[in-house]
Amino acid sequence: MTDSILAAKTFHWDMAHRLGDGYTSRCRHLHGHRYTAEVAIESDGLDSHGMVMDFGEIAAVCDGWIQANLDHATLVCERDQGLLDFLRTEENRHVVVGFNTTAECIVTWLANVLQDELDAHAHLAARSVRIVRIRLHETPRSYAEWRRT
Ligand SMILES: [Zn+2]
Repeated sequence: MTDSILAAKTFHWDMAHRLGDGYTSRCRHLHGHRYTAEVAIESDGLDSHGMVMDFGEIAAVCDGWIQANLDHATLVCERDQGLLDFLRTEENRHVVVGFNTTAECIVTWLANVLQDELDAHAHLAARSVRIVRIRLHETPRSYAEWRRT
């Protein structure tokens, strides 16, 4: 039996979105959430300090990207032309994505974006530091989870 060790850190940010693509329930109206993401990371062996990845560095890389790009932004689907027009006209902070902004789609996208951020650091890539799970809470009682398979 081999040990499997992961390190995880939780981040919070405020972001607006609305669901489209014909969705008819309340979430079609523009609204915001205090999103919470628990990001879990593994590596091939521990570093010289006995860590998967320093918690401070996880925050610097992952939360750094989240705060720089997503906090107080609107996540908008490229197909939502009306909202896109408004955000551009008003010069409101936004990020354009190619998917309906459900928690399931956001967490899948986030896993790829944050992995790219980790991969940009050679010393992390050298130890295959990888995100293995992200649990994204849209509300305290609702979350979607992405897992590396
Ligand atoms: Zn929502």
